[in-house]
Amino acid sequence: MKPIRYYDKIIFSMSEIEGHPTLLIHALTGCMFHCFKCFNYEELIEKKHDQFYMIDDVVKTIDRQNHIVDYILFSGGEYLLAPIESLIHDLKKVRAITDHKIIIYTTGYELEKMKELVKRHLVDGFHIDMKLPYHLLSMDDLDLIEHTMGVQLKDLKMIKRLMNAIEFVVQNDSGFSQVRSVKYPFLDESAFIECKSFIDQLNSLYNKNIPYFANRFLDPAKGI
Ligand code: SF4
Repeated sequence: MKPIRYYDKIIFSMSEIEGHPTLLIHALTGCMFHCFKCFNYEELIEKKHDQFYMIDDVVKTIDRQNHIVDYILFSGGEYLLAPIESLIHDLKKVRAITDHKIIIYTTGYELEKMKELVKRHLVDGFHIDMKLPYHLLSMDDLDLIEHTMGVQLKDLKMIKRLMNAIEFVVQNDSGFSQVRSVKYPFLDESAFIECKSFIDQLNSLYNKNIPYFANRFLDPAKGI
């Protein structure tokens, strides 16, 4: 089994989930995208880390701070690029030492792994990206997809998969998931209205109330 390496700075945050102290744990699992001015790209994806945490270090940190946090968040890059056996192994260890909810930040790229983790009750929610109004994209938008997500596509199969992952998250929500977009400066406000409308329709279809957030774009060059 290939062990997962984690960033050796685990962040205590009051802002990731409003009103709730959380521990934000970044895995050094890389990313299949290179989104427009990704805030984490240089430090968490490109950089080779000589020092890192393994799951036992992560577990020790959670154990030390367990009494002051409400949520345990796993992020990347894309955390779910790790092999499923390693994800199961690590998340079981976390489950064993905390009753707090485990949330995974994801693009939705690894839908089958998401299903497996839900089936095994190793995750309580996903915060899933909706980087563009996927449901409105056509072959004319391949340039926009590349500009936003840094991938050259030949067709829209991957976009369909990301939409399926969002639908899976809404359908299986137990009150801890959310869908979020980044307000990239080249996107019109209407893009986020369309995204929200898509999520509203899924909520209505599955009788859920999952929130949708369009978050401020953080420019790494300006540090804001
Ligand atoms: S998916 Fe997230 S981590 Fe990966 S490049 Fe995009 S913004 Fe960065």
